[in-house]
Amino acid sequence: MASKPSIIKAPRGMVDVMPPAIKIWQNIENTAREVFGTYGYSEIRTPILEDTSLFKRGVGESTSVVEKEMYSFTDQGDHDLSLRPEGTASVVRAYIESGMCNIDPLARYYYMGPMFRRERPQKGRQRQFYQIGCELLAAESPYADAEVISMAEHFLKRAGVSDLSLEINSIGCEACRPSFNSALVEYFVKFQGGLCDDCIRRLSKNPLRILDCKNNSCKEIVEKAPRFSAFWCDACVTHFSAVKQTLDGIGVSYVVNEQVVRGLDYYMRTAFEFTTTKLGAQNAVLAGGRYDGLVRGLGGPDVAGIGFAMGMERLVLLLQDSTKKDPVDDVVYFAVIGELAGRKALPVINLLRRDGIRVEWDYAAKSLKSQMRKAGKIEAGSVVIMGDDEITRGEVIVKNMKTGEQQNVRIKDLPFHFINIGG
Ligand code: ATP
Ligand code: MG
Repeated sequence: MASKPSIIKAPRGMVDVMPPAIKIWQNIENTAREVFGTYGYSEIRTPILEDTSLFKRGVGESTSVVEKEMYSFTDQGDHDLSLRPEGTASVVRAYIESGMCNIDPLARYYYMGPMFRRERPQKGRQRQFYQIGCELLAAESPYADAEVISMAEHFLKRAGVSDLSLEINSIGCEACRPSFNSALVEYFVKFQGGLCDDCIRRLSKNPLRILDCKNNSCKEIVEKAPRFSAFWCDACVTHFSAVKQTLDGIGVSYVVNEQVVRGLDYYMRTAFEFTTTKLGAQNAVLAGGRYDGLVRGLGGPDVAGIGFAMGMERLVLLLQDSTKKDPVDDVVYFAVIGELAGRKALPVINLLRRDGIRVEWDYAAKSLKSQMRKAGKIEAGSVVIMGDDEITRGEVIVKNMKTGEQQNVRIKDLPFHFINIGG
């Protein structure tokens, strides 16, 4: 006897989003389209695979994402490709490649889709995760920073999360970062013994990243590290004050947290994060910042950039905790009894579906009792009972599951019946 085939599971850290949970995802996506649209943003869809060099340059070779977490491979044509670990580099590549950077530089894009990082899976951290993100290109003004931050807040509130805190910081620019970096190195070298291996490497490659380490002993050392504010150049001070003033003016509340830094090499000046206390260590729900050097670094003109990305799974976790059950769509269930009814059912069902009514049925004839049980399970609002007798009279029985009322309805009147009751 042939052995039973084994079950194949999804790769570790990659999960299926199944109905009915998908509903909450679709709601978030719809909210994003709606809110970002009102700010003048359009959707952009880029490939999930890109040349590995795009991320090496666009995210930074010394970042842990590129160093350790990318799914990279060489394809049959000897091309080095990677599954995208984030969205900004791809959006900027498309902006340059399409020529938009010259034709109409001021551009606003949003994207949604899966990203891939080979991290240790845990609650709110997966290897395939979804992000919704926005990128605003060629806007240097501090108004742009404030507008992007307030759009993120608007979106989160509209999606249904309320108790998030917004932390902002300025991580300086090319002019003032070198002196801050040296001060950090000078400080951290003294505590090398207490730093994790990653941070010891960061010390020579990118000391700023130590500020973002999640390791507890590193965090303790970071507490007393030099503060960026002491090193900001005049231009950075002016920019950051204007961002804060604008946020105050539009009623967005924030706290300045000098430990907020961003993971990409090109980030500069404004960095921000919306965090929650409800997801343990995975506290960042949405994070973003200004990346004025990136377009140029990827071969485009010297234009500014600012954006953010939101982690879908984390937002979904928050919404699951805080919202009541989503109302189910009004479903009409077809209970079909007998041979003739079975044959006649689908044309009638499709008539309703063409009018936008959601109809479910179970194909094979089962007992009326088991079909009614099924209708109850899916919380159908009405059940259409089709028996051979009714069919020959050109009728069906419609049972309202809320009131228990039953009535005979002529088959040709059926769509009107449901449209009239708002089915
Ligand atoms: P974290 O500090 O939590 O690792 P990050 O700084 O690496 O986040 P970004 O690259 O800025 O994250 O991505 C923006 C958002 O995407 C994060 O705030 C988070 O909500 C989400 N995110 C990042 N990595 C993952 C992951 N592995 N699984 C699920 N969501 C993630
Ligand atoms: Mg990370």
